[in-house]
Amino acid sequence: MADAHAVVVGAGIGGLSAALALHRHGWRVTVLERAAEPREVGAGLTLMANALRGLDALGLGPAVRRGGTEAPGGIRDRHGRWLSRVDGAEMIRQLGTTALGVHRTTLHRTLREALPASALRTSAEVEHVESGPDRAEVRFRGPAGSQTLTADLVVGADGLRSQVRAQLWPRHPAPEYAGSTAWRAAIAFPEPVPAAISWGPGAEFGMVPLGDGQVYWYGAVNASPGGHAPDELAALRERFGDWHAPIPALLAATPSGVVLRNDIHHLAVPLPSYVRGRVALLGDAAHAMTPNLGQGAGQAIEDAVVLGAVCAGGADGLPAALAAYDEQRRPRSQAIARAALRAGRYGQQLRNPLAIAVRDSALRLTPGRAALRGMARYADWSPPAG
Ligand SMILES: Cc1cc2nc3c(=O)[nH]c(=O)nc-3n(C[C@H](O)[C@H](O)[C@H](O)COP(=O)(O)OP(=O)(O)OC[C@H]3O[C@@H](n4cnc5c(N)ncnc54)[C@H](O)[C@@H]3O)c2cc1C
Repeated sequence: MADAHAVVVGAGIGGLSAALALHRHGWRVTVLERAAEPREVGAGLTLMANALRGLDALGLGPAVRRGGTEAPGGIRDRHGRWLSRVDGAEMIRQLGTTALGVHRTTLHRTLREALPASALRTSAEVEHVESGPDRAEVRFRGPAGSQTLTADLVVGADGLRSQVRAQLWPRHPAPEYAGSTAWRAAIAFPEPVPAAISWGPGAEFGMVPLGDGQVYWYGAVNASPGGHAPDELAALRERFGDWHAPIPALLAATPSGVVLRNDIHHLAVPLPSYVRGRVALLGDAAHAMTPNLGQGAGQAIEDAVVLGAVCAGGADGLPAALAAYDEQRRPRSQAIARAALRAGRYGQQLRNPLAIAVRDSALRLTPGRAALRGMARYADWSPPAG
């Protein structure tokens, strides 16, 4: 293959996965990241079978599994009664793996270390992207001032507020607030904790073991956007303090200053294409979704693996390869984004007591296998052969 060069904008999970997928198919890659330190913002993550199979295709499955812990999960009410519980053994039978709880830092570091160190350029904020018929150009501001790179392919992996999306799809509506705000942290908590989501009226609390005495927890509530408490942890203890064990203990064990708060936004209007000329969007830049199915990073990893596979022939025939990328990725990722929004409305955001009673009874009556089949609709994805 002639020296095919890709510039990836953004070194999040999506951008690093894309860079690695292209690198493994013989591309020279340059990743431009505006932050001075490449790091993953946030606490923990749940990776479903699809994400783990994608990481297997990138050669990182074993390393990521070693760094995480099995987290099959289930749903409880705020008093701790199980509404639905995943049978880990059955999940392995259906999907080959349980879900995995992993610290974001671990996943990010594993991806970064698999790339040549020279591929990543930090403190490099992309300001302008343009696509011609044969090449694309990226202008960025780095420590040495403004610079321009020319590439066969540019990958916009610059997240929810993507500059690349805004420039190439200038009339596309911006992401919207989804109605909930979320707090999260990863903490030391030596007692065993089952992976679980607990629902109360208009609120949800999730906990995921990460291994090595670490637990990732998050709380989400219906709220107006832009809210802040003078002491976020105190506000959370107030909100979730009377929920079932070990929620109060998890909050009590959380040091102040480690809690992150984010309003949840999503790309409410789906993009008509993930490709314009020689530029492809990926991850949250392409399909920012609400976190209710735990699939945002998983979809970014899938995008990356498919992009690498369709571009395996190098820069020749790239327009057809990118058309195949769009065709393979857009319907699935947008369907999952729609499903995540529905899951949030049916789960965390539901407030009406009658509707909650009906939902909870329906969940209790749904056999575990049927619940798993529902989950498998999203998690049962395999990378393209070859
Ligand atoms: C509360 C919450 C819980 C979640 N839980 C899960 C879960 O359990 N499982 C799951 O799969 N997903 C989960 N997600 C979703 C997941 O975090 C995201 O979908 C995923 O991290 C997106 O990765 P990305 O690489 O596309 O974008 P990002 O992680 O946003 O990365 C974008 C990168 O681009 C850089 N950048 C931005 N603009 C520029 C620029 N102009 N120039 C250069 N660099 C730039 C940024 O600094 C950043 O490093 C959750 C999300 C939230 C909010």
